[in-house]
Amino acid sequence: MESSAKPTCTTPGAKSRRVVIAGGGYAGTTLAVRLGKALRDADDVEIMLIEPNPCQQALSELDLVAVGPPRPEFCELWLPTLFKDLPVTVCYNRVHEVKPAEHVLTIGPRSGPHEPVSYWRLVLATGAIAFVPPVPGLAEHAGTMWSVADAQELQQRIEKQFRSAATIADREARVRALSFAVIGGGATGIEIVGTLGQMLPKRMREAGLDPADLRIRVIEGRPDVLYDLEPSLRLRARKRLEHLGVELVTGSMVASVEESAIHLADGRTIDASVMVFCGGAKADPDAISWSMEADPSGRLVVDETCRAVGHEDIYAVGDVAAFRDPKDKRTLPMLAQFAIREAEHTADNIVREVRGATPTPFVPNMHGEFVSIGPSYGVGWAFKVHLAGLPAIVMKRLTYLMYWFSVGGIKLTWKRTREMLSMQR
Ligand SMILES: Cc1cc2nc3c(=O)[nH]c(=O)nc-3n(C[C@H](O)[C@H](O)[C@H](O)COP(=O)(O)OP(=O)(O)OC[C@H]3O[C@@H](n4cnc5c(N)ncnc54)[C@H](O)[C@@H]3O)c2cc1C
Repeated sequence: MESSAKPTCTTPGAKSRRVVIAGGGYAGTTLAVRLGKALRDADDVEIMLIEPNPCQQALSELDLVAVGPPRPEFCELWLPTLFKDLPVTVCYNRVHEVKPAEHVLTIGPRSGPHEPVSYWRLVLATGAIAFVPPVPGLAEHAGTMWSVADAQELQQRIEKQFRSAATIADREARVRALSFAVIGGGATGIEIVGTLGQMLPKRMREAGLDPADLRIRVIEGRPDVLYDLEPSLRLRARKRLEHLGVELVTGSMVASVEESAIHLADGRTIDASVMVFCGGAKADPDAISWSMEADPSGRLVVDETCRAVGHEDIYAVGDVAAFRDPKDKRTLPMLAQFAIREAEHTADNIVREVRGATPTPFVPNMHGEFVSIGPSYGVGWAFKVHLAGLPAIVMKRLTYLMYWFSVGGIKLTWKRTREMLSMQR
C-alpha cells in the first residue's frame, strides 16, 4: 500500500499539497534539505526537486578542479546521497514551461514530449549560464567556466598543450603553445588565473617541462582587477598575481579573437593558445518565457518575500531572481552566499505558510567576500576586517565547510575537507 502512495515525477503521492523546487544548485538543494528537515508528516506536504543533473555542481569550487589533478568529481555533490534520509522526491528532468494561471509546470526535453506537474507552491531556482558577448571569434575560441564540463575541458586543453609543447624544439613556438589567457578580471577570472599561476608550474615540472616557458595573462577592460574590492585588497591581489608570474593586461576591451591570439581595442595583440572567458553571466534564459515579470537583464523580479511579483504561490531564489536590497535598492549580485540565504529564508516561509502564517521579508546582509588566488592564498573581508593570504583562504574554505555541513552534515563535511586538503598539497 505504502509504495503505491509514493510520488513520482508526474503522479502526486498521498499528501494533499506539493512544493515543487525547480533547480538543484546552491539554492534549490539548500531549500529542499531545509524543508525536508522541517516538515512533519502532519503537515501533509510533499517536496519535489526537479533537476536534470544527479549531482549538484558546486560552482564556487570549480577553480580547485579546473587546473588541479584531474578529479572533477570534487565539485559535485551527489543528490541521491544528500536526500537519502529526507522526504524529498528528486525528479531527474528539466522544467520546460511554467503555467502560473493553472498552477502547473511541464517537464521534458526542449523538443518534447512534455508532462504536467501540479504544485501548491513552486520555487524557481534555475540559476544562470555563462554569457559570452558577441565579440568576433570569442565564442569559437574561448572556453567558459560555468560547469564541471567546462572545468574538464580546461583540464583537457592543458594536457593537450603540455603534450604538444613537449615535442616542440623551438623555444618561441613552445612558449606560444604554453600561453594561457583568462579574459575577465572579476572574482571568477582571478580565481581561475590564480589557480593556473600556482598549479601549472608544478604540473609542468612533473611533465619534464620548464616553467620558464609558461605565459599566463589576465585581460581586464577596466584599469584594475577585482573592482568590487577595496583598493588595498586589490593591491594585495595584484602583488600575489605578479608573484605567481601572472601578467595583468588591463585598460582595454577585447576587440576580436583568433585561434591563438587576442586583439585588444587599443591595438595590442596577446598570444594565447588556451583562452577562458570569465566575463559574465546571465539568468537562466528560459525563465523569461514563463509568464513572470523579469528585469532588463532577464532575472525574475521578486518582492521582499522572494515571491515572483503578482504570483503568491511562486518564489524565485538565487541567480535567476532579481532581489532588490531594500537598503540601497540595488539588485543582489549573483553569489552563492545570497542564493543560500534566500533559499533558507524561503524554506522557513514555506513552513510558515504550511502552518497558516504569512511569509516574512528577506533581509540580505553581506558579512564578507573572499577571492582565492591559487589554492593557498586569498584576499577579502569579513565584518569590515580586511584579510589577505592564509587567513583569507581559510575564511573562503570555511564558507565551503559551512555549506557542506548544512546540506550533508558532518559526514559530507569530513569527506570533502579531506579531499580539499589533499588538493592543497
Ligand atoms: C567559477 C565560479 C566561481 C564562483 N565562485 C563563487 C564564490 O566564491 N562565492 C560565491 O558566493 N559565489 C560564487 N559563484 C557564484 C555562484 O556559484 C552562484 O551565485 C550560485 O551557483 C547560484 O546558485 P543557484 O542555486 O541560483 O544556481 P546554480 O547553482 O547555478 O543552480 C541552478 C541549477 O538549476 C538547474 N536548472 C537549470 N535549468 C533548469 C530547468 N529548466 N529545470 C530544472 N533545473 C534546471 C541547473 O542544472 C542547476 O543545477 C561562482 C560562480 C562560478 C561560475
